[in-house]
Amino acid sequence: MKLKDKIAIVTGASSGIGRQIALELAKEGAKIAVIDLTKEGGDKTLSQIKEQGGGGIALAADVSQAKALKDAISKVIREYGKIDILVNSAGIFDGPETFLTTDEETFDKIIGVNLRGVFLGTKYVLENMIQHHSGVIINIASVAGLRGGLASPSYTASKHGIIGLTKDTAAVYGADGIRAIALCPGMIQTAMTQDLLAEPSAQTQAIIGSIPLKRVGQPEEIGKLVAFLVSDQAPYITGTTIVIDGGMII
Ligand code: NAP
Repeated sequence: MKLKDKIAIVTGASSGIGRQIALELAKEGAKIAVIDLTKEGGDKTLSQIKEQGGGGIALAADVSQAKALKDAISKVIREYGKIDILVNSAGIFDGPETFLTTDEETFDKIIGVNLRGVFLGTKYVLENMIQHHSGVIINIASVAGLRGGLASPSYTASKHGIIGLTKDTAAVYGADGIRAIALCPGMIQTAMTQDLLAEPSAQTQAIIGSIPLKRVGQPEEIGKLVAFLVSDQAPYITGTTIVIDGGMII
């Protein structure tokens, strides 16, 4: 097992990519703190982890709310004494909007969850990681963090921002033994893309048609990549973005 005795926090782990990351890290022996909006959602993931023979805790916190997230992370430190891995996966998507159709409140909400959530999560785990001179932070960005025109302006800006936060974390805290990596998934089959994939518009069909592997990705594929990146098998990878998109943005 690659992650025996490791403690991992995964945000947004009640669903989709976050849940599969939590399950893959648990399979490799990590204890998982599942953080999501509701404890009920987190408990479902935790039951699946326990069915696999793993363990952890489920905590409710809105990642855009500083106090709630700080309290949840403090509880994890009280319970386990350390944090080895943080995966910032919680995120929201506002659909294929444009500047003209995006209102100010929606822009603030998307930035609040997707970007501020990553800032806060990173901020609150760093002190503990610095103390034990080791840690890995994986931020789930998107191919929309590398290109314009693939999503709404709010989502695109939030995901570009996540890549900036990742680079800054890696640059400033590398000397403290901390690695940070941004993942850029393409189109992955989850609740977030359910509507787009259920009745694909001409634009969605064109996107899938343009993917060299001619299919969308599965959350398990992201989970397995994260399990590798946070392990001792990837000790020299930091500050970079890794695209996992079936070739979508070649
Ligand atoms: P998902 O199935 O909708 O999962 C998102 C999770 O985040 C849900 O459990 C959701 O909880 C939680 N969440 C939402 N707002 C939150 C908040 N304020 N605080 C705490 N948790 C919150 O979507 P997904 O596809 O797995 O997305 C995971 C990440 O991958 C996101 O950052 C997304 O932008 C990114 N991504 C997805 C794709 C894709 O094609 N699916 C591609 C590139 C990147 P509730 O269910 O209770 O709302």
